[in-house]
Amino acid sequence: MINKRLELVATYVKGRRLADIGSDHAYLPLYLVKNKRIDFAIAGEIVEGPYKISQKNVAQEGFSKIIECRKAAGLDAISLDDNIEVITICGMGGKLIAEILENGKEKLKNKPSLILQPNVGENFVRIKLQELGYKIDAEDIIEEDGHIYEIIVASFGKMNLTEDEINFGKFLTKEKPELYIKKQNLELEKINYILAQLKKSKNTQLEKIKVQKEKYKKIEALIQ
Ligand code: SAM
Repeated sequence: MINKRLELVATYVKGRRLADIGSDHAYLPLYLVKNKRIDFAIAGEIVEGPYKISQKNVAQEGFSKIIECRKAAGLDAISLDDNIEVITICGMGGKLIAEILENGKEKLKNKPSLILQPNVGENFVRIKLQELGYKIDAEDIIEEDGHIYEIIVASFGKMNLTEDEINFGKFLTKEKPELYIKKQNLELEKINYILAQLKKSKNTQLEKIKVQKEKYKKIEALIQ
């Protein structure tokens, strides 16, 4: 059984040909195939250990003809002939997800939709999507094991994000789901802590204090 984070990611998979990059044990493609939601998947994984386990899991479930486990870095796992319709990249930092997209942008020529779930650094993902000519269609948020995760769903097309949308979300800032408010309140607590440390410091760090106070005000206004 997959966790509820990947289960939520799965609800956004619309195409029938998937590439799951950083697939680890191939849980997401296995779940989608078992539920007859996709006809073909590539489970791309860079590290030998999880790649071997993904192969074993797929074989054990009898899906080796539908799910191809490929050991590769990022989008090197796919070729344009695979006709991939949806790419999922989940459970990594936003900076790494952005790097994977940048390094593999040639593999986006067929305009697959993208479902991205950065653990942190969502801003890097939004900036890269805009640079690559993708637009965000939906955002979601989920809490699991004490961590709050954002999910970003994008398709080929233009967008022009504001700085706030880059940093805090295109839809999340408007829809303001309960978990999003919780996440931002946790952020405010972190800023308060940083401010307390800065104020205790021997060298008065006025510039840093100013930056943190501005960030605080911005978030406070967003969740009003
Ligand atoms: N996607 C799964 C999930 O969301 O539960 C697994 C997340 S796991 C924390 C991240 C996986 O990505 C690891 O198995 C790691 O080896 C793999 N990974 C990291 N960088 C990668 C890259 N450049 N290309 C392919 N896989 C990568």
